[in-house]
Amino acid sequence: MNPNEKLALEAIDRNAEKIHKVAQKIWEFKEVGWEEFQSSTLLMNELEKEGFVVERGLTGRHPKFDQEIDMPTAFKAVLKGKEDGPTVGIMLEYDALPNGHACGHNLISSAGFAAAIGLKEAFLDKGSVVVYGTPAEELEGSKHYILEGGYMDEVDLMLASHYGADWGSEVTGKAIVWPTHDNWLTFKGRSAHASSSPEKGRSALDAVILTTMGLEFLREHMLGTNRIHYIISKVGTAANSVPDLATLNVELRTNDSAELNSLMRRVDNIIKGAELMTETTAVYKWDAPWYCATPVPTLYHQTAHFAADLGIDESRFTFGNLPKASSDLGCVAYKIPTVEITFPIVADGEPAPVGHADETALITADDYPIAQSILAGKLMALTGLRIAGDPQKLGVIKEEFAKNYRE
Ligand SMILES: [Zn+2]
Repeated sequence: MNPNEKLALEAIDRNAEKIHKVAQKIWEFKEVGWEEFQSSTLLMNELEKEGFVVERGLTGRHPKFDQEIDMPTAFKAVLKGKEDGPTVGIMLEYDALPNGHACGHNLISSAGFAAAIGLKEAFLDKGSVVVYGTPAEELEGSKHYILEGGYMDEVDLMLASHYGADWGSEVTGKAIVWPTHDNWLTFKGRSAHASSSPEKGRSALDAVILTTMGLEFLREHMLGTNRIHYIISKVGTAANSVPDLATLNVELRTNDSAELNSLMRRVDNIIKGAELMTETTAVYKWDAPWYCATPVPTLYHQTAHFAADLGIDESRFTFGNLPKASSDLGCVAYKIPTVEITFPIVADGEPAPVGHADETALITADDYPIAQSILAGKLMALTGLRIAGDPQKLGVIKEEFAKNYRE
């Protein structure tokens, strides 16, 4: 550990109580996506006190539709060093679920805030630290809008975190896409009395059912790692009327961005078939996908190695893990070399908390999870210093990233 690294870690220790309070406050606020006004204000105020220059509220861009996205609870906080140098980005999340902080995003805030305090201490001379407040991860996400808005252009290395079953450093989300949330996949037909004039009706419900049948048959002939899930969210008004409107909320996931594009086309064909069979019209538009990370294994392995200096057993980090869920983090990690520190929030030997479950929301403001998030923040800071602070190492990471990047 060199003196500069020590400075960073000491700064985090010195501020531990303050960081702890941030995690607790955000847990108490438990604000759901796009409504995180108190949480983001708290973080912006704290970062300003640390000397960051804060842009409060960001205007993002939709990556697919020509549309500006106003995000009052997003922010960008910049701390510029005396000299130019590498830019390290830190990603914060703070949105809750309807049942509270059952995904522990308050701990993402404390981990990132800790990392910001540590990096600030050590980066003041050369390079800058940029902290991103990224709202609504549990809803439509915001990171792809922030990225597309140009706010992340200068970042050389991105640091993220999330609680997990154990320590980890890979970014392993699945790519995901859905029809835009406004109308999902909606079939329009023609209503008629279901008994006296059924021949005049064209059933939107039939179209939805035929679509789901097509999806079930498709399941047999797609990659086993792909996922298709759906619910019928709207359908008709009465059993004695042919439904003229029915809506299917459907989501597609894959382990590879190109595979997602191919799966979308196959689902398009199923929808077309349902239209033809029922003489209804499908109204939908695929939203911008969340992509998969561009893998940077060297970065993941080095981060695990650094963990040993913080007393974390390096062998707990495993690699080549198959992605399970998805995050808007994938969009960023697709374009910028990114490491995501996962950290356990229950004592060794205890079963990992179930994501989004009520009982998880009960523990995410406890002392142990918050202390673990601060330890994760230390690892983020150390990774930032050792990778971005070393032009040769950063060069290797960037080269590997470019080699693995696929349009
Ligand atoms: Zn989460």
